[in-house]
Amino acid sequence: MADEVIMGYCVKEKASKPMKDAKEVTLKNGKHAMQGVCASCGTKMMKFVSAKKAATTSTPPSAPTPPTVAA
Ligand SMILES: [Zn+2]
Repeated sequence: MADEVIMGYCVKEKASKPMKDAKEVTLKNGKHAMQGVCASCGTKMMKFVSAKKAATTSTPPSAPTPPTVAA
């Protein structure tokens, strides 16, 4: 699993900082959030994430069918 950096908002530094020990949590209201600590100062931080982005059903443009050459 890739060690991706999650950016969160640090309320202490009032800046966007990388989140350490980030883990996804599900809140009571069913929303998802990432919880962790600020890698810079250690303040607890949380970042809301959109629950599984509904896969946009993108219908690919119908491929142009090559004209069938009538014999
Ligand atoms: Zn911080």
